[in-house]
Amino acid sequence: MAVQKKRTTAKRSGSSKSAVPVTIPARKAKAAFVKKGQHIRVVNTHGTQVVDCWALNADNMTEFMSMEHCRVFLESIIPRKGDVMVTNRRRPIIKITEDSASGTHDTLLAACDRYRYELLGCKDYHANCTDNFWEAMVMAGYKPVELPSPFNLWQNTPVEVDGTIKPNAPVTRKGDFIVMRAMMNLVICLSACPQDITAICGNKPRSAQFEIF
Ligand SMILES: [Zn+2]
Repeated sequence: MAVQKKRTTAKRSGSSKSAVPVTIPARKAKAAFVKKGQHIRVVNTHGTQVVDCWALNADNMTEFMSMEHCRVFLESIIPRKGDVMVTNRRRPIIKITEDSASGTHDTLLAACDRYRYELLGCKDYHANCTDNFWEAMVMAGYKPVELPSPFNLWQNTPVEVDGTIKPNAPVTRKGDFIVMRAMMNLVICLSACPQDITAICGNKPRSAQFEIF
């Protein structure tokens, strides 16, 4: 399986303080290289946007942040500030160093895809995080080999006491942010979820923002 060679022009100097904010357009995704030791800050610009987050080993795309392995490692379904997220090889890949939303994220649900929207009644093609992932990774020069399960930032879908999971409206605030430190050279991919059928993005997909520093 091919492994990417080309890397983006994203800042690779770990000492740089002049982070340039990058907009993740509504319904779209962006991918960028992050050097070990650098930080990624993702901002919920409008306060209502779920952002699907993936992190892949930049040198070997078969290794990636894995939600099922993180849940074992953390003994929790809710990653919080200070927690280390691990790969499908159980190695540290990112550490959450700041989280203004105090763990209001999801590690259980799959990325949305065209089939999800078909089941929700869409007759025509609907933008989705799965296609966003592949498109953004290819646009940034990478060739992932599979779609990992996403870390769904700000997605308000907790498991209720009766075991159900509902697509609740967001409870986050404008400007909420999370900061993650890269624990290996990685590629981050962030999708502003196009979900507008259920309430998870407030029924109105919006843009978000990230920066690497
Ligand atoms: Zn989505």
